[in-house]
Amino acid sequence: MRYYSLSRQADTVDFRAATVAGQAPDGGLYFPAAIPRFTPGFVERLPHLDAGEVAYTVLAPYVGGTIPELELRRICAETVNFPFPVVPVTDHIRALELFHGPTLAFKDVGARFMSRCLGYFSRHETRPLTVLVATSGDTGGAVASGFLGVPGVEVVVLYPAGRVSPVQEQQLTALGQNITALEVNGNFDDCQRLVKQAFRDEALRSRRHLTSANSINVARWLPQQVYYCYGAAQVRATTGQPPVVAVPSGNFGNLCAGLLAYVSGLPVAHFIAACNANAAVPAYLATGQYAARPAVPTLSNAMDVGDPSNFGRILELFRHDYPVIRELLTGYSVSDEETSATIRRVHARTGYVLDPHGAVAFFALDDYLRRHPQAQGLLLETAHPVKFPAAVEPAIGEPVPVPTELQELMRQPKRSILLEPEYEALRAYLLETA
Ligand SMILES: *Cc1c(COP(=O)(O)O)cnc(C)c1O
Repeated sequence: MRYYSLSRQADTVDFRAATVAGQAPDGGLYFPAAIPRFTPGFVERLPHLDAGEVAYTVLAPYVGGTIPELELRRICAETVNFPFPVVPVTDHIRALELFHGPTLAFKDVGARFMSRCLGYFSRHETRPLTVLVATSGDTGGAVASGFLGVPGVEVVVLYPAGRVSPVQEQQLTALGQNITALEVNGNFDDCQRLVKQAFRDEALRSRRHLTSANSINVARWLPQQVYYCYGAAQVRATTGQPPVVAVPSGNFGNLCAGLLAYVSGLPVAHFIAACNANAAVPAYLATGQYAARPAVPTLSNAMDVGDPSNFGRILELFRHDYPVIRELLTGYSVSDEETSATIRRVHARTGYVLDPHGAVAFFALDDYLRRHPQAQGLLLETAHPVKFPAAVEPAIGEPVPVPTELQELMRQPKRSILLEPEYEALRAYLLETA
């Protein structure tokens, strides 16, 4: 499989080069030159296949021989070695729970696959690889956990002091080993600015081999197809219908992976792009015109993205054909008031506790199903509610119990290095520890 840059100035590359580089040298996102098709037999057998087998079948054409079969099978099995239950919430809505991985969010799937691929590709490197990543909460934890104990790789995560939830902070700071947390006295934009400056610093890069764990990396994007295959097949097996799938969306990597699986032949009736007040894509779907906007803060803060990177991949997947995209995809922008009210209402009626991102998707899906009463809905629950207590607990009027898997981590000491939001401070740290 070859990958070309959506900016079309750079050369095409294989999976290995696309994964190691992250972004093409012309600044574009990498995109597969041909979309593989699933065999009809694969789609029929899906409900009976184990997740590792599904992952291998879906991903092998994309990896295209850059990782030997046995190694890739092992990586796939490790990527999806936790459950993805489909849980009924109402008569017509099921939740595909993607939060049973080590950091309780769907980003574990992409981060685990990418970390193991990078570990394989850099196995003969003598210089350690430093993964430098800025996080507003979920990304850093998933990346840190994915790379924990991977030989030859060090992870340095920058996060904004006081702006991540207690669970998220433990997931960044309590792992130890090859993971270092830098607690920046500033906001997420400061963290991102420092990281970008480090990547531009040639003198620093000659001393430390830096790579990003950016969400646009193909090795984070592609494996997300796997749980769509699994979830859609489960709904079809129980109801006889392909589901309407609602995806809480921010940077649109997750939804774009679902669309990719659909183009490859996965039966899905319709997709819903469920957004908070950051509504660039819903506005495009309503009008055919796209305009980036400044990001605004919301309760579902992992989706506070004003100009989603993966939107370009969605356009490319459908050859910029707006009528085709509009036929398959409906956009919603859900307010914080509607999000809180949805968490409260669903909990009161069903006992199910949504996280704020899942609540955005529930609200959108519920509205869509009212107009399409024969359809079956599947919402992607992208994080465990315990990660967002400030949004969830006031709505349900009680604390969210900490899952047993997490209790041990919550007892570990927090270890972080405080950093002023100035580039010299980050640079000094990276040079001292090189
Ligand atoms: C990252 C994240 C999202 C948004 O996913 P995208 O692929 O960026 O659209 C949604 N929900 C949660 C909980 C997240 O962490």
